[in-house]
Amino acid sequence: MRMRVLKFGGTSVADAQRLKLVSDIVQSKQKKHKSLCVVVSAFSGMTDLLLQTVNFAQSNETSYKDTYDQFILKVHDVAQELLGRDTYSSIKTELDDNHVSLQNLLAGVALIQEASPKTKDYVVSFGERNCAFLLATYLQMLGHKSAYIDARKVIKTDGSYGSAIVDFELTTPLIKKHLSDKDTIYIATGFIGSEKISGVTTTLGRGGSDYSAAIFAAALDASALEIWTDVDGVLTSDPRKVKKAYSIPELSYLEAAEMSHFGAKVLYAPTIRPVKEKNIPTIIKNTFNPEHPGTLIHHEAKDQTGIISGLSSINNVTLVSLQGSGMQGVPGIAYRLFKCIADGQINVIMITQASSEHSICIAISDNDEKSAESHINKEFELEIQQRLIDPVKLRSGLCLLAVIGENMKNSPGVAGKLFETLGKNGINVEAIAQGSSELNITFAVEQEDESQALNAVHDAFFLSEYKTVHLFVVGIGLIGSTLIRQMINNHDSIRKNSKVELVINGISNSKKMLFSEDGVSMDNYKEQLEHSQVSAGIEKFIDRMIQMNFAHSIFVDNTASKVIPEHYSRIMENNIAISTPNKIALSSGMSQYKKLKALSGAMNIPLNFETNVGAGLPVISTLKSLTMTGDKISKIQAVLSGSVSYIFNNFTSNVDFMDLVKEAQEKGLTEPDPREDLSGADVKRKMLILARESGFDVEDEDIEIKSLLSDACINADSVDDFYKELEKDTPRYKEMILKAEAAEEHLRFIASYENGRGTISLQSVDSQNPFYGLSGSDNMIVIHSSRYNDTPLVIRGPGAGAEVTAAGLLAEILSMSSVL
Ligand code: ADP
Ligand code: ASP
Ligand code: MG
Repeated sequence: MRMRVLKFGGTSVADAQRLKLVSDIVQSKQKKHKSLCVVVSAFSGMTDLLLQTVNFAQSNETSYKDTYDQFILKVHDVAQELLGRDTYSSIKTELDDNHVSLQNLLAGVALIQEASPKTKDYVVSFGERNCAFLLATYLQMLGHKSAYIDARKVIKTDGSYGSAIVDFELTTPLIKKHLSDKDTIYIATGFIGSEKISGVTTTLGRGGSDYSAAIFAAALDASALEIWTDVDGVLTSDPRKVKKAYSIPELSYLEAAEMSHFGAKVLYAPTIRPVKEKNIPTIIKNTFNPEHPGTLIHHEAKDQTGIISGLSSINNVTLVSLQGSGMQGVPGIAYRLFKCIADGQINVIMITQASSEHSICIAISDNDEKSAESHINKEFELEIQQRLIDPVKLRSGLCLLAVIGENMKNSPGVAGKLFETLGKNGINVEAIAQGSSELNITFAVEQEDESQALNAVHDAFFLSEYKTVHLFVVGIGLIGSTLIRQMINNHDSIRKNSKVELVINGISNSKKMLFSEDGVSMDNYKEQLEHSQVSAGIEKFIDRMIQMNFAHSIFVDNTASKVIPEHYSRIMENNIAISTPNKIALSSGMSQYKKLKALSGAMNIPLNFETNVGAGLPVISTLKSLTMTGDKISKIQAVLSGSVSYIFNNFTSNVDFMDLVKEAQEKGLTEPDPREDLSGADVKRKMLILARESGFDVEDEDIEIKSLLSDACINADSVDDFYKELEKDTPRYKEMILKAEAAEEHLRFIASYENGRGTISLQSVDSQNPFYGLSGSDNMIVIHSSRYNDTPLVIRGPGAGAEVTAAGLLAEILSMSSVL
């Protein structure tokens, strides 16, 4: 059975709990694969802490003692929690003894105030050594045959401390020899090795544990290398810079190498070579989401749907350009340039040369800027004096982006699409290079354009798992807050089923407002609003929304305000869609209705208001599909008030009308002043909207309300006075209900529209009438049309309540999201 090599990075082994998680994974892997070699990093942050310690010591700052103590404390804490009291006490002395040499060395550094790279390598080696030792001890404690491997015994390198070169001829047989027992779980240190002659500790470069694991895998001819980290594999881009980055299922070795070379930290660049040479499949997995398949890196990455596989970037880059008339046709210029750069130990990240041979441009790290300048100017001193070549030009503070993928070969138009995208976003490209393998296009942009460039290119080339839709929410009363709660509760299913991520970038109540480019946290938006320093103001709210300039934005008006709809035009003119339960905009004058509808059509920007009528019931959308497909609506009859409906559905001769109104009010079914419902004003607004959506030109005066209430009730100064007046009317209501009961009829508050006239009135209906059987707070809309002639189309269901209204609003927002 071939061995399998697993590597766990710093975050995977950050503390005792995580080491237990790691050992669970190791144990289940052992059951499956029998022979295992596990390579570990230091607990996360330890390498930095040790480097900080030695740096403090070097500059003779006594604080080195504090950071050293922090390190030791962490090691003991982890050991104690992981191993429990007994095992911990059995190894405690060994742990302490191990650190004596470190403590002495640091004291020496503090004394002479000097720490060479060699010293630093020795100091940081303690990070990996402690971690591997503790994990091996823990597995032994659990009864496994497990052995600690100090990689300095087997990985032999040259003396380039800090980033040593591995001698594979010496290393391979040593690994084979020391890891020969197939039944032992070997736990080896990542990152470190030793100088081949002296045996002095070396390191393989920051992030080098990946490389160590690849070295073990190659030497052992492993069946696979698994790199366990804290993300679901290699993602399409750095998730810290591109939020929509997602896991790439497969990559070729070449693609993976390019990604890591161009800054994808998930894999240390040298890692690929040893596994590629031995053709060892390499899998990047997430310790915290082991079910996820991660990324498989192997010879031939199949099943790739996209043209490009990934997008990477390197920050802090300087472009160095050498140009001048004396360069043309003169052999050896490029050779001399690269030689002097190499002599200065400067790494070249990218090269471009114009075919006129008039200039050569290379990209290097900002850190090497000064050294490159002096090396080049010295090398070409003579030519510069003779004005054949200009003094070298340097432009720092840039960023390199690389678009990577094997499928780019033979796919025309990639560069076109790439640069068109950058152009559209107003991003200036400073230099471009494409390797002849067509595996990679690299270009330089200003550092400040990095995020926009990465995200724009990502949007253009990758099919996102989900679309981010930016919401600007005004009004967080009952409906607004219920909407947000439903967004939180249904977050995962919305993402999964609608492929949409809803983000609130602006929110306002009547007092304060709050904005965030990254999204306001929905969990505590109320507290955040309370602490916000920005007072509410619709104009300023809209200014900010326009300024944020997100691609897919929806303005959600959850208020009943008359003022906010006055701004709808400006919002739509700025390409922002609107979704609202506020009835004012569409039920005001017909000219306003027509203007808003026309603007929405001309700008191709949705203005949706399904919840204006019947809460979550699909009323407006049904009317729209009827009229859109050529049907002609002739008549609408409807019970449109949930609260009035509740009152009449429960009215019998055994109850007093006034008591019932009070009960409905106490249940929160009516407005605070129940006259708003009983007057029929709200029903009228809904009827206006229904009639208009059915294709009629209707003004307010075309609909007559036959009021339920006496004039005295309507004119009463307060709600209390209203109830006093209503009490006086008790006999009148009693008479009405007795009459209805005698005729076996029900009282219903019905709105109807036909032949250009609308009425809203209380009617006594018999059992043949469709409204007869209504119950609870049901709404019912009966539509007569040329198609639904003999039997009308009926929509019935709960037509009031925050839950159904908010759900209707959420459904509307999601359906709008798909067309934005
Ligand atoms: P480990 O400690 O396991 O070695 P690293 O921190 O070295 O982990 O690498 C994993 C991190 O690399 C991720 O958490 C992520 O932030 C970063 N990263 C950068 N680019 C990419 C990418 N293209 N795909 C995945 N992760 C990336
Ligand atoms: N611990 C080392 C570092 O932080 C090596 C690694 O984690 O890969 O660089
Ligand atoms: Mg790493």
